[in-house]
Amino acid sequence: MTAESVIDTQGDQTAARTPVTVRASLSPSRAADFKTCPLLYRFRSIDRLPERPTIEQARGTLVHAVLERLFDLPAPTRTPESAGDLVAPQWDRLVTEEPELAELFAGDDAAGVEGFLRSAAALLEGYFAVEDPRRLEPAEREALISAVVDDELLIRGYLDRLDVAPDGALRVVDYKTGGAPREAFEARALFQLKFYALVLWRTRGVVPRVLRLLYLKDAEVCDYAPDAEELVRFERTVVALWRAIEQATARQDFRPRPSRLCDWCSHQSRCPSFGGTPPPFPVAAAAPDPLVDARSRPATPGADE
Ligand code: SF4
Repeated sequence: MTAESVIDTQGDQTAARTPVTVRASLSPSRAADFKTCPLLYRFRSIDRLPERPTIEQARGTLVHAVLERLFDLPAPTRTPESAGDLVAPQWDRLVTEEPELAELFAGDDAAGVEGFLRSAAALLEGYFAVEDPRRLEPAEREALISAVVDDELLIRGYLDRLDVAPDGALRVVDYKTGGAPREAFEARALFQLKFYALVLWRTRGVVPRVLRLLYLKDAEVCDYAPDAEELVRFERTVVALWRAIEQATARQDFRPRPSRLCDWCSHQSRCPSFGGTPPPFPVAAAAPDPLVDARSRPATPGADE
C-alpha cells in the first residue's frame, strides 16, 4: 500500500490531537466481505464493479432515512403516523440524490412505487412494535466513527444510532430491514456491530454495554453485550484480516468462497464457482487508494442493509 494519510486518532482531521500516520482503512462492510468471500471483496473493493441496487436494498435505505429523520421531530410527535408521513418525501429525496433508484421501477405504473412505499411503511410498523421513539433521545444517528488500530490501520464506518444512558453507558443500534433469512446474515451483522464497539472503545474508552440488532421485518430485538477481552481479540482479528487482504492484493489472489450468501451476490456471472471468469486484475489495484470505503451501505450480498 502506498497511500498514506496523517490523521488524528479519532479520525477527525481537524482536531488538535496527536497525529498518527495511517496507511490503510477498513470499513466493517469491506472487512465482512473479505471474511465472507475474498473474491467478493476483490469485485467490490478492487475491481469496483458496479452493483445495481435491489428493491430490498432501496427499501432498506428508505427505512433507514425515515428512522433517522423521525428523531428530528419533537419526541411526543414520533408516532407511527408521523413515520408514515415521512416515507414518500424521503423516497423523493433519495431518488433525487440517487436517480438510479428510480430505474428500479422503470416500466412500472404508479402502483409499483406505491406498493414499494407501503412495504417500507410495513417495516416501520415492525420498528414501532419493538421501540417507542418518544422515549428515546439518540446521541448520534448515521454517524461516521473511526479509530486507528495497530498504529496504522484506520477502521471506520457509519453506525445507525448510538444511545447514551445518563450513566454514560453506550448502546449501539443497527436496523436490519432485509427479508433474507436472518441466520444467513446474523454473524455478519454481529461482526459489524463489534467493529463499531471496538471503534467506540478505542476512541471513548468505554466498552458499549449493548450491541442491538433491530429486525424490523420480524419485529425482534437481538442484544449482545461485548466485553473488553473480547474486543481485544476482535481487534487482533481485524488486523489479521487486513494483513490477509494486503497479502491477497500483493499476490492478486482472491479466491471464491461459496456459501448461502452467494444467493444474494451480484457477481455470480463472473465467479468461477458459477462457471464465470473474473476480469483481469486491475493494474492500478497494486496501489489502491486504501483511504476509501468507509460507507457501510449498500454492501451486503443481500438485502439486510
Ligand atoms: S458468487 Fe459466492 S463465491 Fe462467487 S464471488 Fe459471489 S459470494 Fe463469492
